[in-house]
This record gives sequence, C-alpha cells and structure tokens, in this order.
Amino acid sequence: MNDVKDSFAAMRDAVQRFHDKHDLKNLGGEDLVYRVALMAEELGEISACVTKGRDREALAEECADLLILLLGTAISADFALDRAFWDKMDALMKRSSRMVAGRIRVSEFRDS
Ligand SMILES: [Mg+2]
Repeated sequence: MNDVKDSFAAMRDAVQRFHDKHDLKNLGGEDLVYRVALMAEELGEISACVTKGRDREALAEECADLLILLLGTAISADFALDRAFWDKMDALMKRSSRMVAGRIRVSEFRDS
C-alpha cells in the first residue's frame, strides 16, 4: 500500500478545484475541441517518453497529465467517468483476444 489518495472522487474533486481556481468553465478551458487538442498533445508527450527512452518518472508525469485532462473532460462534458469506466471495463472483460501482427489484441472482432 502507499499513501497516495487514490479514490476516484478525491481525484475528480481535485480536478474540479483546479477548474474552479482558473475559472476554466468561463474562460474556454472546458471547450471540448480545445480539450481534445490538449489530450492529443499529452498523448504525444507520452509517445515521446517511450520513443526517446525517457525515464519512468517522466512517463508517469505525462500519464498523469493525460489522466487529469480526462477527469477534467468528464467535468466539462458533464458525464460520470467512473460509471463509464466500469461499464466499459465490464464489456472489455467479456471480449476475446487474438494475436494481431505479433501482439495481443482484445476486441469485439466483428469478422469472427
Ligand atoms: Mg505533459
């Protein structure tokens, strides 16, 4: 165990406080097109960590950036990300897997 506050509610509330602190709702920070661009930017930073061989701490920081943006996008678009997570996780657990180009892929595989 570690001492990190890891409940979904605590993380969502922290992101809400960040949105409130900078008034993202009224200053364009909750615009979904803008948020998608920011998430793509962070995904690129995650990719660079891997392709440029950066250390684990750098990768963790960039993943945290993306998670914070995802939590904030759920706030911006007013949906329950925890509910969506568990609904999707339940669906994923029912899917099959197969090897595709040397790597495992879990999908619906509509052709099978
Ligand atoms: Mg970043």
